[in-house]
Amino acid sequence: MVKQKSTPTSVRQPVLAVPVSAVQKAWLSAMGVDVPWIVSEPAPQKKPVAAQTDGPSAPPAPPAQLTRAASPNSLTDALALAKAQTAIEAKANAAPAKVDLSGLSLAALREKITPCRACGLCENRIHAVAGEGAEAPDVLIVGEAPGEQEDSEGRPFVGRSGQLLSNMLKAIGLDRSSQVFITNVIKCRPPANRNPRQEEIAACLPYLHQQIAVLQPKVVLAMGRFAAHALLNTSEPLQKLRQQNQVLSSVPGAPPVVVTYHPAYLLRRPVDKRLAWEDLKRVNAYLNAHR
Ligand code: URA
Repeated sequence: MVKQKSTPTSVRQPVLAVPVSAVQKAWLSAMGVDVPWIVSEPAPQKKPVAAQTDGPSAPPAPPAQLTRAASPNSLTDALALAKAQTAIEAKANAAPAKVDLSGLSLAALREKITPCRACGLCENRIHAVAGEGAEAPDVLIVGEAPGEQEDSEGRPFVGRSGQLLSNMLKAIGLDRSSQVFITNVIKCRPPANRNPRQEEIAACLPYLHQQIAVLQPKVVLAMGRFAAHALLNTSEPLQKLRQQNQVLSSVPGAPPVVVTYHPAYLLRRPVDKRLAWEDLKRVNAYLNAHR
């Protein structure tokens, strides 16, 4: 069933203890999460960095490529950047094309996404990244937008964030290719990894809604505030959303949504992996209860 509008509802959920096997411990350690430390460590005094910086965009120490794009050091770079920006703005000012995606299969959706020109991001992309994974997934992972590596390979989460994501999934016993489907709110890379704009999210969201309708995941894991806000149609802080169970809509059978930090944020702030681990345990507990 197509869930066009997301009406979040919230229920406080106790933290569920999940036994951690030796294999899971090994993956947790690869993620940089020390399980005994999680259990004994009191909650951190410092508040986590504001939810506004949880996505892949705006890292405190931008990679060289980002610095180059954001501060062009040659006239050619500056002209190319200005041209791309103008094209994006021209598209943004145009009325968004209305598309009816209802009834489309995953393959048909991919065929629509690949050549999509619904917003200005098409001007700069190498690949639109539709997503990949299991066709009847336990978990649908929704990130923010492709980064540089994803844009060049046409696959989601293949860079450093992707490695961490794979480790996080293994920590709860999920295989990335056979048990999850991974996609993003925005299917094309924003220039210099800037934040997605509202009109870009609005243009792209119908693809995600139809992906959810076709995939019918048991649970959706929204990673970062852009994913959480777009899916749940809210602007509540991520820190608040991740402590509650959310559902996509009041439609019976709609999958629950667990909100957590974006892997790029966790790479910048590893201390918050312990909080993400609590979120992953809730995903795991839900799956175990619904096998
Ligand atoms: N960050 C995202 O949000 N998505 C990707 O595919 C890669 C990095």
